[in-house]
Amino acid sequence: MGLKEEIAKRRTFGIISHPDAGKTTLTEKLLLFGGAIQKAGAVKSSKINMHARSDWMEIEKQRGISVATSVMAFEYEGMKVNLLDTPGHQDFAEDTYRTLTAVDSVVMVVDCVKGVEIQTEKLMEVCRMRNTPVISFINKMDREGKDPYDLLEEIEGRLNINVHPLSWPIGIGKTFKGVYSLYDKSLRLFQPSKQRLYEETVKLSDINSPDLEKFIGEKDANQLREDVELLQDLYGDLDVDAYLNGEIAPVFFGSAVNNFGVKELLDTFLKISPKPLARSTDERLVEPTEEKFTGFIFKVHANMDPKHRNRIAFLRICSGKFERGSTYYHTRQHKKFRISQATAFMAQDKETIDEAWPGDIIGLYDTGNFKIGDTLSEGETGTYKGIPSFSPEIFREVINRDAMKTKQLEKGLNQLMDEGVAQLFSYELGARKAVGVVGQLQFEVIQYRLKNEYGASADFVPIQVHKACWFSAKDPKKLEAFIDSKQRHIARDKDGKLVFMAESRAWLQMVQDNFPEIDFHFTSEF
Ligand code: GDP
Repeated sequence: MGLKEEIAKRRTFGIISHPDAGKTTLTEKLLLFGGAIQKAGAVKSSKINMHARSDWMEIEKQRGISVATSVMAFEYEGMKVNLLDTPGHQDFAEDTYRTLTAVDSVVMVVDCVKGVEIQTEKLMEVCRMRNTPVISFINKMDREGKDPYDLLEEIEGRLNINVHPLSWPIGIGKTFKGVYSLYDKSLRLFQPSKQRLYEETVKLSDINSPDLEKFIGEKDANQLREDVELLQDLYGDLDVDAYLNGEIAPVFFGSAVNNFGVKELLDTFLKISPKPLARSTDERLVEPTEEKFTGFIFKVHANMDPKHRNRIAFLRICSGKFERGSTYYHTRQHKKFRISQATAFMAQDKETIDEAWPGDIIGLYDTGNFKIGDTLSEGETGTYKGIPSFSPEIFREVINRDAMKTKQLEKGLNQLMDEGVAQLFSYELGARKAVGVVGQLQFEVIQYRLKNEYGASADFVPIQVHKACWFSAKDPKKLEAFIDSKQRHIARDKDGKLVFMAESRAWLQMVQDNFPEIDFHFTSEF
């Protein structure tokens, strides 16, 4: 097979959801279809369990699980599906945002009882930023959930995207009888079962067929006909281009734990979702069909064994063919590297691979050369865009507690930051350093890993910082004047970019008003 065919058969996507909506369950069912696993219960949740907060071994174990489950590839009906897992826990949201840069589309799971939840909202904002196509799966229809029309309205209202139902539920909770596919006009009858792989599908010549009564009874049949007519008026046929542009989210209803509606989701997904597309570097747009290999690193994960400080860098291939043993160009370091070890993530296992194609995710063994956002190529000098840092939510100053281990602390901090565990800001004045995180749990992980892996001790003391704002100005003089007047609050991020550390929301507002010629940004890429 040539490059074009390899690209055409690949689908690389992520599943997002608020914790507990059913992401792990859905993932598992998808893998069952792919034949990648044999039985239910085989997929471990990568959730960081809050009850285990103080149990460090548990966190380490979970970190191990999260690396094992973060990429799962499987073959299904001639397609190669690359599924990327995203940590649901909000304290690790930054990791999820970065993972979303490596996918071509997203499946969003919504719990029909709880509706749209806060974490889903945040993740969708990230999808909106990049116009990532989204398909929504409304889950747990076997439970007494909200009215389906209300759910659609909620998604449109709170997630700022138009919806287009492709299936429609018949009843809900105890009275849930199945779904009617608006896409291929068939009826899928619901039978609760945790092990069954295929659901019963009834082809109807048309919605007015008397067969409908036979299967779901008169009352539901009448209701369904009414709904279908209304839905047809409201939504018409799916505009696939609008979906591909991230403007419309097709919606399915089902029950992941009962493996109901999952096959329909998967089949439709494979039909309409985007294959690997062109991506931009800071120099140009690179087509996946270009012969020369390019790819970027979106995740770096330390090995679980503290005695061996090697890491795995996750690389998304964007163009050309990757070949193990080849020498590739590292655009940030302006150096060539020979890649002798590479791993493919096949469902539960990691295995050595010799070649891989656009859309694939491979793991590279790393001894400290790779950072999140790095690009590898066969000569291309541009760096892939689209891995911005967001302002963290909580900031602490780093206080070294062991002067003998200053070097170790510095090294540890730098390496943890390369992994994207948190963000480091170095103040321009003095040698002050601040660490910014999204959630408290990250400080605990950092402190523990500094001690455990680097032998360094540090405290993290609260400082008054509300937001880290990247800033720029067209007029270099104005920029300089601003920096001069705010010296104590200016820091640099990991890439040396200037950041204004705003103490409070009100103060930031005032500074923005006082310096209208300075542009403040809340992500590092602008
Ligand atoms: P995640 O946190 O999003 O990965 O959610 P999980 O997949 O771990 O699911 C959370 C809980 O919801 C588990 O107890 C699942 O068994 C349950 N669950 C998942 N899908 C369904 C469903 O369709 N119906 C019902 N009733 N429960 C479900």
